[in-house]
Amino acid sequence: MAASPLDLLELDNLLSDEERDVRAVTRRVVDDRVRPHIADWYESGTVPVRELALEFGKLGLLGMHLTGYGCAGASSVQYGLACLELEAADSGVRSLVSVQGSLAMYAIWKFGSEEQKQQWLPGMAAGELIGCFGLTEPDHGSDPANMATRARRDGDDWILNGGKMWITNAPVADVAVIWARSDAGVEGFAVPTSTPGFSVREVKKKLSLRASSTGEITLDDVRLPASAQLPLARGLKAPLSCLTEARFGIIWGALGAARDCLETALEYAGSRSQFGRPIAGFQLTQAKLADMTLELQKGYLLALHLGRLPGLSPVQVSAGKLNNVREALKIARQCRTILGANGISGEYPVLRHANNLESVLTYEGTSEVHQLVIGQKLTGLNAFAG
Ligand code: FAD
Repeated sequence: MAASPLDLLELDNLLSDEERDVRAVTRRVVDDRVRPHIADWYESGTVPVRELALEFGKLGLLGMHLTGYGCAGASSVQYGLACLELEAADSGVRSLVSVQGSLAMYAIWKFGSEEQKQQWLPGMAAGELIGCFGLTEPDHGSDPANMATRARRDGDDWILNGGKMWITNAPVADVAVIWARSDAGVEGFAVPTSTPGFSVREVKKKLSLRASSTGEITLDDVRLPASAQLPLARGLKAPLSCLTEARFGIIWGALGAARDCLETALEYAGSRSQFGRPIAGFQLTQAKLADMTLELQKGYLLALHLGRLPGLSPVQVSAGKLNNVREALKIARQCRTILGANGISGEYPVLRHANNLESVLTYEGTSEVHQLVIGQKLTGLNAFAG
């Protein structure tokens, strides 16, 4: 693979051959299966989730950092590089993979019974079964501790009532990991979406993450056997630990969107002339390109550092997500200016990436929430509730 001019600091040399292989395989499937169609999917607000999942499953990209049950057992950095290449095509496509692997599969892998793992994970790793993860509710986003969805016992069974909002993959999912409050605290459930009382409405009119299927889930007296409860999930810590997994992928993924914007802007600036010379020759354009390249490389170093740490604390993941998504969004917007009017066209990826990154800035903990996590670590004071 040719060295990118954006790799000013030769950070590529920091990768092992195995890591480069994962990157190459992911880049190939993205180039073949996603890039030729992504602008149309985005415009129409549709995405062939099942077809893509099968393609990604064949390559071992689903739940790739998990072990056993058909999962690839990849390293953190390999997983991160796959996220980067997926998001270089579109954040919605990376979201499909993150939600499947780091949220739905991870929850079952970490907190499920052996029977649940056997039932769901091999099919999910292969992309034959789709999963979603329902934590957010219409009235409880950043504050899931106050969730309104309830789980109550009826004999040995559980009955779920409530609703979840903004749930990626929900309209096409076979299994939904649902978090609900019982008398004992927050509990997790692996809910087959065919269960009576479980329904999904597709969220329409999104102006961001349009190449991603998003749903609102209603739980109306959903009766589940005791075996649907995730036995090892105890309290809110369980879903929050799944989010830590998924955020790690976002730290890398956001860099992919930024890289795609920057590559586009660099090429455009070289070929577009105004005042008789390429706009790449103007000092103001060069200053933008230089600053963006530095931020991209710094973000990459941060991702690589976090990926190589033996274990990550939630505050370290918050730092990575906050920085890399925020900088990626700035890069996408700045690249948009370099493309002038063409920057707002779907013929180019930059505004699509910028719009997508607005969602990425908000989901998996808003940037403000991550600032507060870091602030609490620094000061010892919890600013969440006031
Ligand atoms: P709110 O919590 O209402 O926040 C609104 C604003 O208030 C934000 O700026 C926030 O930072 C700020 N704020 C809130 N509390 C504080 C505070 N204490 N101090 C300072 N500022 C504060 N959720 C899932 O469970 N599963 C999914 O698969 C999923 N997919 C998503 C896909 C998309 C496209 C989007 C947009 C969202 C998705 N989400 C999903 C939901 C996402 O995680 C939430 O939107 C996010 O947690 C924020 O919640 P909220 O939108 O209710 O905003």
